Amino acid sequence: MEPLAAKWQKRKKVVMERKTNTSSNGYVIETEDLWRVYKVGLQEVPALRGVNLKVEPGRFVAVKGRSGSGKTTLLNCIGGLDRPTSGVVRVFGRDLSDLNEEQLTQWRREQVGFVFQSFGLLPTLSAYENVELILRIAGVGVRECHERALYCLELVGLSKWVHHRPYEMSGGQQQRVGIARALANNPQLILADEPMGELDSTTGREILALFRRVVEEERVTLLIASHDVLVDEYVDEVLQLKDGQIVRQN
Ligand code: ADP
Ligand code: MG
Repeated sequence: MEPLAAKWQKRKKVVMERKTNTSSNGYVIETEDLWRVYKVGLQEVPALRGVNLKVEPGRFVAVKGRSGSGKTTLLNCIGGLDRPTSGVVRVFGRDLSDLNEEQLTQWRREQVGFVFQSFGLLPTLSAYENVELILRIAGVGVRECHERALYCLELVGLSKWVHHRPYEMSGGQQQRVGIARALANNPQLILADEPMGELDSTTGREILALFRRVVEEERVTLLIASHDVLVDEYVDEVLQLKDGQIVRQN
């Protein structure tokens, strides 16, 4: 078997050579006057009220704000899980409103990795199977599925836990599986919605440090929604949301 270090180097080379898709003006994400208004009965609830956003490639960006400020809605619109009521969302230079539902699903599978607060793992599957499943759905060949799943689990420090099921792992370990799964398809963009929400602060820091490493080593752009002050130390940029608007970007 090929030594792990050699595999790692080979893989790194691929990552280095990969050219991140951006729009002509160099942004991975752009939103223009983005509105998302939910209709609840006769009432209209504006979750996003004219968000203008630009994110450069390879950045680790926090979307902060209190509960209800619109963080999840913003991430969902950027990741193609939700459609804006008005305004533009461009990711890798592509206007998502140009894609029909089927194309959007395909696009999401290929381009975006999602990490959730409650991990979102299938309880009857092992760590390995949880990661491998994503690759199978994407139609990746058996051998590549195997290698890629092991690579991603190694990257998040779970080489010794591949055969464990979620309930045999700590919350931090489960979230690492969640991150390995998000990385499986080699996406250029990762969206993490309150990924430390169910973890203690020490474990939360470990997860943030891992995200930081993933941004550096895998050259992804990472958006993390959180209301935790911990994130400030780890990210390149903080976007502050208040009542569906960006009030501060630094
Ligand atoms: P956050 O993630 O910052 O807590 P959300 O994006 O979940 O904020 O919610 C923003 C606002 O939109 C809140 O007022 C919330 O109640 C409302 N909202 C979110 N999702 C829905 C929905 N599916 N239907 C109706 N209102 C919603
Ligand atoms: Mg939320």
